[in-house]
Amino acid sequence: MTVPRYWRNIGAHYRLEGIRCKSCGEVSFPPRSSCPKCHSKDVEVVQLPRKGKVVSFSLLRSPPNGFEAYVPYYVVVVELENGVRVLGTLTDVFGEVKEGMEVEAVFRKISEDGEEGLIHYGTKFRPIA
Ligand SMILES: [Zn+2]
Repeated sequence: MTVPRYWRNIGAHYRLEGIRCKSCGEVSFPPRSSCPKCHSKDVEVVQLPRKGKVVSFSLLRSPPNGFEAYVPYYVVVVELENGVRVLGTLTDVFGEVKEGMEVEAVFRKISEDGEEGLIHYGTKFRPIA
């Protein structure tokens, strides 16, 4: 499994950062060097809200290598309070998962590479009780 470059930037996920385009105002996630909408490189890193609601979800039973210990788990698209959509996984799920469910971002270990001891981090969401 190759690790996308932005995943190596732990800060981006720890603080849930995105970018804001200074040209067109588009806010997006994950952080990247140019605006996905107008391709301007005049972007700045911004803090994203940690809360949002689930807009779609799917239960993953056949995980990529390294994720076997975590199945089944939910992959979700969360619409944050500012309207930005973020792809993540759900954690601490005890009840039914449904669209519109309120969640907040948490910082959790996603997977661990046994041989090299690499730890991958990503965005996880948990239901707000
Ligand atoms: Zn733009």
